[in-house]
Amino acid sequence: MTGLRPLIAGNWKMNGLKASASELGQMIAGAGGPAQKADLLICPPATLVLAFAGAVQGSPLRIGAQDCHPNPSGAHTGDTSAEMLADSGATAIIVGHSERRADHGETDALVRQKAEAAWRAALIAIVCVGETQDQRDAGQTLEVVGRQLAGSLPDGATAANLVVAYEPVWAIGTGRTPTPKDVQDVHGFIRDQLTQRFSGEGARIRILYGGSVKPSNAAELMAVPNVNGALIGGASLKATDFLAIAGAV
Ligand code: PGA
Repeated sequence: MTGLRPLIAGNWKMNGLKASASELGQMIAGAGGPAQKADLLICPPATLVLAFAGAVQGSPLRIGAQDCHPNPSGAHTGDTSAEMLADSGATAIIVGHSERRADHGETDALVRQKAEAAWRAALIAIVCVGETQDQRDAGQTLEVVGRQLAGSLPDGATAANLVVAYEPVWAIGTGRTPTPKDVQDVHGFIRDQLTQRFSGEGARIRILYGGSVKPSNAAELMAVPNVNGALIGGASLKATDFLAIAGAV
């Protein structure tokens, strides 16, 4: 940790129904302790953003979204704009998650537009980058991450409007994580890229690690230099796991 206030963010992906409000309720009940040291964010599916944002009022938890369309409104059947998510109470939007890059062919240029859309709606953009197993095996990790950062991050990033999440694709949902040394190397590289491009602000933009974070490995991962929090998938669905991870920073 580099003195930045950590962000512990849960990405529920395509999971959660109205009844999941009880899990959120347990998170709210237990958030007080962890929130003394970290910002806490849950990103449910878009269907739950409005209800969850209402439920967390008065608690330290914040609610985010998992994607947005680049445009504010218009003829885009099935899409949701950043303005709509802001109107529903979201404070942040994950953009460029590897599942969206893979399932929907999202390019760096589109991810950049989505990050700009989040800013247009006064929301934090959490921009995800990360290499595949093949790219890591070929020694291309830093090249890939560097290219994704250059293409996906808009100009004008600040510590208040941008969070970067490093998520090696091969570590997502697999139970496998990079070694602390590997995480340190990539996060250090991302920090260098951010400070080169955004100077002083780049030193304060939070860089999250994501990919199979769980209570048993959180403390070790969060202790790595330039790891300023976590983006958690599977383990964020259970209040006990999410709070245990948040308590490990
Ligand atoms: P995981 O997912 O924690 O289930 O590996 C992380 C993510 O995709 O954000």
